[in-house]
Amino acid sequence: MTMSPDSNPAESAQAFFAVDDEAAFGYLEHLEQYPRSKQICICGHTITSHRFFPSSGYGCKPNNQDCPCTRPRPVFFAGNARFFKRSSHGPGKKHALALGIKSMEKAGFSGEWLELLACQVEGCKNPEIISACLNSQSLISAYPTPNNVFLCREHALAMGANRL
Ligand SMILES: [Zn+2]
Ligand SMILES: [Zn+2]
Ligand SMILES: [Zn+2]
Repeated sequence: MTMSPDSNPAESAQAFFAVDDEAAFGYLEHLEQYPRSKQICICGHTITSHRFFPSSGYGCKPNNQDCPCTRPRPVFFAGNARFFKRSSHGPGKKHALALGIKSMEKAGFSGEWLELLACQVEGCKNPEIISACLNSQSLISAYPTPNNVFLCREHALAMGANRL
């Protein structure tokens, strides 16, 4: 389609459904290979645990307790997702993501990371990564919070983790 130089695209362009076939088909294949029910959010629970609840609004509910995560971020694909129902009670081994992965592995299942592990502190290249909940002051929390992050051990210790 050619347009004269002074035409305003916002006025003249016909609206269309702007989903690229190649990207969409690629994503459909990804979903077939990695169903959302087995994709694990950084909060340690399946992506499908996150939904709208009439009483409390949008949230994550992997067990009979609420998880405050409201921004699902798939980071791990689980060979068996039934182990991802625990609540975080600290960083590292006490975080729900580690509790899920390790209890799954202990039962003989494996999984794979859906993103490259990296400390969220900008520019940090330390390779020993853990997951943790941060509180509203961006310090390590011993309770579930909406802010789940990956940190290297050093930064986790600097942000208040006392043992990992
Ligand atoms: Zn959760
Ligand atoms: Zn989540
Ligand atoms: Zn770091």
